[in-house]
Amino acid sequence: MAGSVTVNAQVETVIDLDAIAHNVRILRKYAGDAGVMVVVKGDGYNHGAVEVSRAALAAGAAELGVTTVAEALRLRAAGITAPILCWLNNAETDFAAAVAADIEIGVSSPAQLRAVAAAARQTGRTATVAVKVDTGLNRNGVSQAEYAQLLTILRALVDEQVVYLRAIFSHLAHADEPEHPNNTVQRTRFLDAIALAKEYGLAPDLVHLANSAATLTRPDMAFDLVRPGIAVYGLSPIPDNDFGLRPAMTFQAQVALVKQVSAGEGVSYGHQWIAPHDTTVALIPAGYADGVLRGLSGRFDVWLGGARRRNIGRVCMDQFVVDLGDNATGVREGDIAVLFGVRPSAQEWADLLDTIHYEVVCAPRGRAVRRYIGGAE
Ligand SMILES: *Cc1c(COP(=O)(O)O)cnc(C)c1O
Repeated sequence: MAGSVTVNAQVETVIDLDAIAHNVRILRKYAGDAGVMVVVKGDGYNHGAVEVSRAALAAGAAELGVTTVAEALRLRAAGITAPILCWLNNAETDFAAAVAADIEIGVSSPAQLRAVAAAARQTGRTATVAVKVDTGLNRNGVSQAEYAQLLTILRALVDEQVVYLRAIFSHLAHADEPEHPNNTVQRTRFLDAIALAKEYGLAPDLVHLANSAATLTRPDMAFDLVRPGIAVYGLSPIPDNDFGLRPAMTFQAQVALVKQVSAGEGVSYGHQWIAPHDTTVALIPAGYADGVLRGLSGRFDVWLGGARRRNIGRVCMDQFVVDLGDNATGVREGDIAVLFGVRPSAQEWADLLDTIHYEVVCAPRGRAVRRYIGGAE
């Protein structure tokens, strides 16, 4: 996505930083005594990691979470001094840069821990680490098989003050189904992993497990810190309960052209839609190169001129068409069509595309320019 703001962009994602702040305040309430680590991986779920981080920290978030060292370094380069954890690394990662920038490093294997230790020795600074234990997601995280070995190495490194153990954490597989029995299985395994570390004389400052869904539904999972991502952006991970969250992203475009189409004429490639009667249509200058996925063709609405308007014909690379009927409300060139935001919602796209709203907000790209509102200091 283009980073620079141009005047009068035809296609935009408008990011409401007041909504981010509002959502963080809601999450702080659910977190109780636990701190809130706001997850800004994937460039802040495509909302802009730096701007979201600033707004979230101002609203009381305690820490930031990202995937890679590179993402963490970008936040540091923007002047953000809050604690930052990055958790998807490998033994080749530039841990020296992370140590030098005071970034907490998530480790998922003995090999990664050794690489972190080497970087600490090289830079002459103690590395801050968080051990990510795999409690059943079977993705990232230290496997059961390697955990004891990792603790042995870690104990020696902590004694030498090469490494500082800040946290032990894990990630849930079924958090969006709060009553799923696997949540309790993972919670128990997590407690066992913390207890085993203690037997090795290792006591982290913090332990954490909850993503957005667990933060909102499982207070018994809050521990010392919660790690919400999607809810910060105003999208609920639990169907039929919005928890008062406000969507922060509005994907919108300016109508490029309004024209008449006569009965019997086809619209867009392959004439998948034939006008049943004379009608008026609007051309929206956003296509699949901008994140309007072609699979939506003919099935989605935009909000335009005070009503829902159905897309007709195929979505193209750069544009699509919507039907205005008799255009009683007088839609004109330059009017704003909302593709998703509060209405229609990102969830509607997710339902149409058989995916989740997380992927929908990551879709805008190409010519879409990001613009921020709210968050005034
Ligand atoms: C992405 C992620 C989160 C946030 O998950 P949400 O479902 O967006 O709240 C938390 N922890 C880890 C380890 C993650 O990878």
